[in-house]
Amino acid sequence: RPAVGVLALQGDVREHARVLSDLGADVVLVRRPAELAAVEGLVIPGGESSVIDKLSRAFGMREPVRAAIAGGLPVYGTCAGMILLADRITDGIEGQLTFGGLDVTVRRNAFGSQVDSFETDLAIPVLGDEPVHAVFIRAPLVEEAGAGVERLAQLDDGRIVAVRQGNLIASAFHPEVTGEDRFHRLFLDTVRSVRSARRPAVDSVA
Ligand code: GLN
Repeated sequence: RPAVGVLALQGDVREHARVLSDLGADVVLVRRPAELAAVEGLVIPGGESSVIDKLSRAFGMREPVRAAIAGGLPVYGTCAGMILLADRITDGIEGQLTFGGLDVTVRRNAFGSQVDSFETDLAIPVLGDEPVHAVFIRAPLVEEAGAGVERLAQLDDGRIVAVRQGNLIASAFHPEVTGEDRFHRLFLDTVRSVRSARRPAVDSVA
């Protein structure tokens, strides 16, 4: 069973923990560096990115999370988690930092105050034929994505709402609140492939 963490400083930690444990993962709520060191993957939940940023600094978690990302730890971020994975953000609060890792520019609260939240069905080929029912809550948008960033999901007008780069996955919406588990499956597949790449297969030793 993969041991995966949910960054548990603020946000919808429980919803992610439930999806992951339903998929057979050993879930660790990560608040301290030692807890982070024990996991093979990390989910950064939805919530408020500026609060998670501040708490991560207060708890001494900022540098450990950055080092883990740089070291190839699989990470899946939803909404606030997507903001925290972005190398660049616009409309952050003053002094707001991100962990970074994704070569994207993300705009916070990109849908403005008239449209605080909305739901839509998205075609996401990497997750199969069945569309994903996506819930957006004061959601961010990917405004710019570097050449190495795979666009996993776009709105009808082309705006990017889910991406992948290396072992990092991010969505502007919240699959964890609708019973949608395919993003978490994709994340756990990444965790397993990183694990098998690091551990030499027994039958290849010949
Ligand atoms: N607007 C929030 C932020 O800036 C994100 C909202 C969410 O995670 N649902 O972090």
